[in-house]
Amino acid sequence: MTDFTMLTDAAGVATITWDVPGRSMNVLTLEGAEQLRRLFETALEDRAVRGIVITSGKDSFAGGMDLSVLATMQAEGPEATFEGIMAMHRLLRLIERAGMDPKTLKGGKAVAAALPGTALGIGLELPLACHRIFAADRPDAKIGLPEIQVGLFPGAGGTTRLVRKLGVMGASPFLLQGKLSDPKAAQAAGLIDAVVADPLAAARDWVLQAAEGDLVKPWDARGYKVPGGAPYSPQGFPTFVGANAMIAGQTWGAYPAPKALLSAVYEGLMVPFDTALKIEARWFTHVLMDPSASAMIRSLFLDKEALEKGANRPALPEARVRQLGVLGAGMMGAGIALVAARAGIAVTLIDQDQGAADKGKAYTQAYLEKGVKLGKTSEAQMQEVLDRITATTDYAALSQADLVIEAVFEDPKVKAEVTARACAVLGPEATFASNTSTLPISELARASTDPARFIGIHFFSPVEKMALVEIIRGKDTGDAAVARALDFVRQIRKTPIVVNDARFFYANRCIIPYLNEGARMVTEGISPALVEHAARMLGFPVGPLQLIDETSITLALKIAGATKAAMGAAYPADLAAVDALMERMAGEGRLGRKAGAGFYDYDARGKRQGLWSGLVPEGKGRPDPDLHEVQHRLMFVQVLEAVRALEEGVLLDVREGDVGAILGWGFAPWSGGPFSWLDLLGTPFAAETCDRLEAAHGPRFACPALLREKARRGGRFRTAMAEAAA
Ligand code: NAD
Repeated sequence: MTDFTMLTDAAGVATITWDVPGRSMNVLTLEGAEQLRRLFETALEDRAVRGIVITSGKDSFAGGMDLSVLATMQAEGPEATFEGIMAMHRLLRLIERAGMDPKTLKGGKAVAAALPGTALGIGLELPLACHRIFAADRPDAKIGLPEIQVGLFPGAGGTTRLVRKLGVMGASPFLLQGKLSDPKAAQAAGLIDAVVADPLAAARDWVLQAAEGDLVKPWDARGYKVPGGAPYSPQGFPTFVGANAMIAGQTWGAYPAPKALLSAVYEGLMVPFDTALKIEARWFTHVLMDPSASAMIRSLFLDKEALEKGANRPALPEARVRQLGVLGAGMMGAGIALVAARAGIAVTLIDQDQGAADKGKAYTQAYLEKGVKLGKTSEAQMQEVLDRITATTDYAALSQADLVIEAVFEDPKVKAEVTARACAVLGPEATFASNTSTLPISELARASTDPARFIGIHFFSPVEKMALVEIIRGKDTGDAAVARALDFVRQIRKTPIVVNDARFFYANRCIIPYLNEGARMVTEGISPALVEHAARMLGFPVGPLQLIDETSITLALKIAGATKAAMGAAYPADLAAVDALMERMAGEGRLGRKAGAGFYDYDARGKRQGLWSGLVPEGKGRPDPDLHEVQHRLMFVQVLEAVRALEEGVLLDVREGDVGAILGWGFAPWSGGPFSWLDLLGTPFAAETCDRLEAAHGPRFACPALLREKARRGGRFRTAMAEAAA
């Protein structure tokens, strides 16, 4: 069984079909690339072959490179990686030149790619080396180069070819943001040549009638000039100045790949095409050797996919949700109804009065109307989704529900009341879930008729944007409820983690110390701008002070009050200064972004201005600490909480700890997550740093026994990418 096969028809068209046995989507391996090379050489040598079509035997073209290839390259080191990439460049160059004389550019055979569906990564880089690309007219297909999203950039000529095809500006959304397009949009952008009903037939027709001139890529033709201008041209120069600033502004220097990509483009455009490929290969090697790339691939691709496929699902029959009940049609309930209805689930949305329930449904309408305006959704599709939501006050409508999620006020009494009312009408197989952020699941379960069917399904706000869902197993929660919750999360295409019940579960448990540490540094007289910038330079999407403003000082005070009440004398004394600062802010009416004033000032339209000048004490005498000190405090205070969650059995799987942190609160994605970050630092250094921070700042930095133990043996929390990919 081979990945590629070739068949030549009577007209002289050799069709090379990519169809990796036993996989739903093609991925390229080194053996596959070798098979393709041999077949292509055979076709070039065969006088009976007039033209070549490369296609796929599946309903998509290809999903990309097999990640185990990248893992192996990385393990073998930079020389082997560079050589491996250059071999790929030689193969694609062989396809692109297709036997033509390098001087006269004559005598080549026409090569077309026929894409039946999705074509990603190397699945687009290979077609880009062909002379024409035909794609099937399928709006569900995705075409693009998503490598940047996992800490890499297109390294099989995709960068060099796309920039030369579209110019720096034209190529930048596809390279720098990894933008994916449907075939029609890809054609409009110039990524592919034609969208047709039958791409294989169109490709075949084209290779039979292609003229010699059609086979020469612009960059191989004499007098080629890159669209939009080369780096040292009056047109091109400002592009690079702007692109540099834009990347620095977006990444704060935290990610190696975008900078390397831009270097490959800039340097590559000053030399001939084949040298540019070599430069691209060097920069790609540089990025692949950076431990950040493997950490990102592992967490954001391999682990995420494993969790979505149910890595921690109890082995029980599938328990999909056909009918969902949502109690509370406020901000969260309305969002949950929206994502469920969009996933094809019938939703009963209940609130205290019909007006509130209708308002919750109107949220879905407003969301979809935006989609209609942008041409992403049709009126009919919008109506179909809206028809799935029934807004009502009648609990009897829940009798057929497979799952009910309550998202009423964060008040145990209100929650107990709605739980009892729903349980009274639910069938014996139905699962009841709470979306609480702070209340213990095991206690809320007492209001249910069957605590084994009671579970936490914790969404993040805004529901329609946030990819993570935290599933919380209460003391008595049964496996069937976990399986049901996981199947539901899969239906709505989000990423689940499953944790045990404990104060603030996992995500909020780690994020609250991050917010407190930021505020605490302000109380110590450290410049607020340093705190915020230190966080952004670590790759956090927002600094801790901005995040407090977003979630509101009212909420911070509420959580502090509830925590104090629950912990009593055990409430950490070192939070007194933070609480005092929050109270002072509240006293001055600075309650956060919604109030128009908080750690930041806001203009009348709510746009963030600068940091509030009242934060810095007059005549602040002490110099600011070193940037790294601030960054270590911000990182360790969260990461140690994650380690403690693992130690205490709240978190059961380090993969969930890493993926949950990145998707849940934007934890430094370049690091691969808190556990990957400790491995990047090296556990011995991490433990030493804890000791130093504990001595300087207090017991919250005390090294957990689990980390100490790993440090003693020079151990790691995570396995290498190669093992994860195996
Ligand atoms: P919200 O105030 O926007 O909505 C609550 C809704 O519940 C309101 O529409 C209210 O009328 C309704 N409600 C109250 N009592 C009811 C009853 N007896 N029967 C039916 N409906 C009733 O609140 P929210 O922000 O959507 O939060 C809801 C829940 O989700 C809370 O438990 C909260 O902790 C949790 N949560 C919130 C967030 C967030 O960021 N806001 C994130 C995760 C979880």
